[in-house]
Amino acid sequence: MGIRAAVMVEPRASIALWEIDDPVVEEGGILLETVASEVCGTDVHLHHGRLDGVPYPIIPGHVSVGRILEARGVDRDALGEALHPGDVVTFYDVHEVCNACYHCTVANQPNRCPKRRVYGITYSAQDGPLGGWAERIYLRPGVRVLKLPERLTADDVIGGGCGLFTGFAAVERSDLCMGDTVVVQGAGPVGLAAAAFAQLRGAGAVVVIGAPATRLSLARELGADLVLSLEEHPLDARADAVRGVTQGRGADVIIEASGNPAAISEGLNLLRDGGTYVVGGHYTDTGTVQINPHTHINRRHADILGQWGTDFRHIVRALHMLARHREKLPFHKVIGARYGLDEADRALDDVANLRVTKAIIDPKL
Ligand SMILES: [Zn+2]
Ligand SMILES: [Zn+2]
Repeated sequence: MGIRAAVMVEPRASIALWEIDDPVVEEGGILLETVASEVCGTDVHLHHGRLDGVPYPIIPGHVSVGRILEARGVDRDALGEALHPGDVVTFYDVHEVCNACYHCTVANQPNRCPKRRVYGITYSAQDGPLGGWAERIYLRPGVRVLKLPERLTADDVIGGGCGLFTGFAAVERSDLCMGDTVVVQGAGPVGLAAAAFAQLRGAGAVVVIGAPATRLSLARELGADLVLSLEEHPLDARADAVRGVTQGRGADVIIEASGNPAAISEGLNLLRDGGTYVVGGHYTDTGTVQINPHTHINRRHADILGQWGTDFRHIVRALHMLARHREKLPFHKVIGARYGLDEADRALDDVANLRVTKAIIDPKL
């Protein structure tokens, strides 16, 4: 019996339904029945061919939740929790880092390791069910698997999806202090998670700039104190509003999660002198933007930081916080619609056109 999978055969082509062979579960490997995977902005970029070195055809879906069907010689998750068949788990999509290159051993940046592989992105569909848009997912030996905390459902986790962890990482990167005013640019899954975790970390106020209105109401539910709609508030009005909540100083911390180059110059203008700006929304090259080195950086004494991907610790800590503060972090509400494997094209289109905030791929539909 083969595995049905939604395959991105090449950029811009329709998603194809393939039946691929069940993998032989090696010692240390785990076979999951997919409970839910997601459509992340990166999947839209993959479909537009905007990432380098992708071995099309691929099975997309880098963040997923699954139920253990078979585990060979693995009885503990990455944190030592007992694992049994039937347990619901998620896993760290980055895999096969070499622990030998400069990035791994010296720079402490395994997510820059040239040998790293990522589920749903850098494996070919010919390598097996190594992406979430499939009925089953094979976790190769060494993949870091995490049992979902008892209080969490699959929807709690997949509703935030990849953005949950990226938003968490961006907040950690910002070193935000209790009482800081935080501006989040962008109200997609990354921006929503950044706003939620900034609030939990003790922000004095969280302002979210974004669109459309459905995303901004989710931002409010997840902890934003003030939302500024790109559709209703022009640039000057947004700047006035941020100055208004900071006695004219500008924001202490700004997290960019918009993927729009224009957000960068706006963000630098909204930052207070000595503030911190984290750029986390530009996973692909969307163009350049003008920055004035004097006013934006030097005189402003700005800390400008980039956040690339997530480390394992971000997944662990984000899940822990999600379990502890589940009532304040209703990420399951971010799920806009669910799609079967044969509806993946529509899911991509709905995400690309902002018709849903988080699209879920459910192979059972
Ligand atoms: Zn390495
Ligand atoms: Zn992603």
